[in-house]
Amino acid sequence: MLIKHTNHLVIEIMIALILGCNFDKNNKMISNKNFAVSTTDIHPHHATITSLSKELTFDGDLEFHNLHYAAKDFGNRYTHLPAAILYPKSVSDISSLINHIFQMGPTSGLTVAPRGHGHSLVGQAQAHQGVIINMESLGKSQQMHFHIDYNKDTKSSFVDVSAGALWIDILHEGLKKHGFAPKSWTDYLHLTVGGTLSNAGISGQAFRHGPQINNVRQLEVVTGTGEIVTCTKEMNSDLFYGVLGGLGQFGIITRAHILLEPAPTMVKWIRVLYLDFTTFTQDQEQLISSGSFDYVEGFVLINRTGLLNNWRSSFKNKDPVQADRFVSEGKTMFCLEIAKYFKHEDADTIDQKVEKLLSKLNYNESTLFISKVSYVEFLDRVHVSELKLQEKGLWDVPHPWLNILVPKSKIHKFASEVFGKILTDTSNGPILIYPVDKSRWNTKTSMVTPNEDVFYLVAFLSSAMPSSRGTDGLDYILSQNKRILEVCETANLETKQYLPHYTTQEEWKKHFGSKWEDFVRRKLTYDPLAILTPGQRIFQKSTSLA
Ligand code: FAD
Repeated sequence: MLIKHTNHLVIEIMIALILGCNFDKNNKMISNKNFAVSTTDIHPHHATITSLSKELTFDGDLEFHNLHYAAKDFGNRYTHLPAAILYPKSVSDISSLINHIFQMGPTSGLTVAPRGHGHSLVGQAQAHQGVIINMESLGKSQQMHFHIDYNKDTKSSFVDVSAGALWIDILHEGLKKHGFAPKSWTDYLHLTVGGTLSNAGISGQAFRHGPQINNVRQLEVVTGTGEIVTCTKEMNSDLFYGVLGGLGQFGIITRAHILLEPAPTMVKWIRVLYLDFTTFTQDQEQLISSGSFDYVEGFVLINRTGLLNNWRSSFKNKDPVQADRFVSEGKTMFCLEIAKYFKHEDADTIDQKVEKLLSKLNYNESTLFISKVSYVEFLDRVHVSELKLQEKGLWDVPHPWLNILVPKSKIHKFASEVFGKILTDTSNGPILIYPVDKSRWNTKTSMVTPNEDVFYLVAFLSSAMPSSRGTDGLDYILSQNKRILEVCETANLETKQYLPHYTTQEEWKKHFGSKWEDFVRRKLTYDPLAILTPGQRIFQKSTSLA
């Protein structure tokens, strides 16, 4: 590796450059830069970009037109136009592009960002005047290989898949061919394998199986020097753990082995309401420790009118007359959402089983809503909402989302400061809240979590109305998010952001805490020129050593 052959002064200069420091003429570090505008500082020369197509040949295509879609993402707030887009058809396309840029040295200013399905929130998959790698193109040109072992434990069943594949496609293929499916999911499946593995991939199954980054057996990665490396927990383990939750900083994941389990066919999908936060969280915590259900999530409902939202739409309830009379009277309510998986052959006994398990919970009577759906319908549930919102033109609006991980010991303080105070209405979008058990998470990955065994994911999933200046407008929601983060800070709640977004390197350092040193070391080892994924705004590609 390049870094091993470099002398100390050069290493120091490189560290400082990617950390955003300046130098005096004796090469002494003099200041730290703020990264708020870092990606716009770099302007590679036009000739540098066009030389790529002259000097390299690809199995896929390198395009210089129709670049606008790669300057957009789901967040709909940040726009950085790239100079080119690579549509790779092989891993060597990606490797030779990166190696070529690496060989150009630090002065080219060229950066590279892998783009999964573009569902980032603040430009994390964008590269201003850089090269975007369209990972879905790789996904479409590579096959999925299912390795199913029916006799042994489920740890030996896995799918070997392109990192550009969508989770929804893995679900369909696995069910159709083998009746097997991944163990850990996200709430929405139209995301790529590489995109979620670079973050974590958390959903209602994470309390049992850990996040998606815990359910990976092997990875193929192209590093920032263009090297293709296969890694596992045992082989090249530093890179393996580094890229999992590594925000695309150490390499581009090109293939992954995802662990599978025999899939259920049907799901009992249940929602119940609570007026008391303590009872709600006690039940949630009991559910994740007992493991009696297969999926545990929950959400907050605050409605000033006192009328219930459409939280129960498509659900049958046990007592419709009483449920219709149930009004919140403007209070904050908490909805527990749980699911029990089953197979067709268990259809006769499942109702009894579920009833018995529900009898241990303390929800508000008459608010029990139960639905029976197929496993695919359950997992692909958010896509149904997406289609409805798309029809109304409400999917492509700004999404100022905020995801916070809150330690169990601080969740009550968090709730009392935020729900009903900073957040007085939930009509801008769902607010998810559910606990996970960290003992199921591998702490060697790059992802950071609060320092307690159980912590809550609280996700403020707001949509902003484009030209509104009111409480459904972008400015209002952003200021609300800011206030929530301020409370976390001033009340010392020891929270961590999920899908983190910061504007200064001091904040990133604080975010990673004791993992920061390793994060920087890995950057220097695997992407020494800071070519990869500039849109996270953690490191900046150096443009000169002067
Ligand atoms: P992109 O947004 O394209 O990329 C994400 C980041 O990873 C970028 O920095 C990109 O450069 C980098 N990257 C992409 N591919 C690779 C690769 N192959 N190798 C290395 N780096 C790569 N998250 C959860 O955990 N749980 C949820 O339940 C959940 N629900 C969601 C629901 C919706 C509707 C949306 C829009 C998002 C949700 N997310 C959830 C967040 C989601 O995990 C992230 O937004 C993720 O980044 C999206 O994946 P993507 O494939 O679109 O990746």
